[in-house]
Amino acid sequence: MIIAIDGPIGSGKKGIALFLARHFSLPHLSSGLLYRAVAFQLMQIEGDADSEADALAACDFDPLMLEEPELQAEYIGGLASRIAVHPRVRKTLFERQWRFAHRPGGCIMDGRDIGTAIAPDADAKLFLAADFDARLRRINRRYRMREDPLSIKEVAIDISLRDDRDTMREASPLRQAVDAVLLDTSHLDDEEANQAALRIVEG
Ligand code: C5P
Repeated sequence: MIIAIDGPIGSGKKGIALFLARHFSLPHLSSGLLYRAVAFQLMQIEGDADSEADALAACDFDPLMLEEPELQAEYIGGLASRIAVHPRVRKTLFERQWRFAHRPGGCIMDGRDIGTAIAPDADAKLFLAADFDARLRRINRRYRMREDPLSIKEVAIDISLRDDRDTMREASPLRQAVDAVLLDTSHLDDEEANQAALRIVEG
């Protein structure tokens, strides 16, 4: 079984994906992590995020890097969203994601374009949405837990910038697949969101 979960930053993808992964004992990949690893590697090689050639060179990262806690930092997320606009970077990461998605035994993947591009053949597809305030609260809580020293205003700017990069270009990755079920998590706590997602997957 392949379960695809897409949605914007702060819509609750990762929590739901982890819950479903535990529930169904399936391996899970948060595809944003690959973009974050490229961003981190780009910093190591002192590359320019707006240069497609530099970003492409950074795609050759050590898989062990995916374990780095630093990848969760806000500034890495921002940088990841900048390198994610380059078509050749997306193409390179596509291969790795496709292989993970189509491993024997199934998996759960979350990201932006899992249901539309990486695994259009997924057995269950969720597209998460939430209003801006709910997403802001969720991301702010995450950064407070990480002791990331960001003000709520800076978090709001970060979310808007990332939304713009994910949606304002021609080949926007953030699109709801026609056969994906929309789940609005604005007024759900974590447990309610998990249970709502489970009901959708179990059909
Ligand atoms: O989900 P996460 O915050 O880890 O993703 C970091 C950035 O990587 C996102 O803001 C988005 O721009 C990009 N991304 C993407 N396609 C994906 C996953 C993430 O463009 N499938």
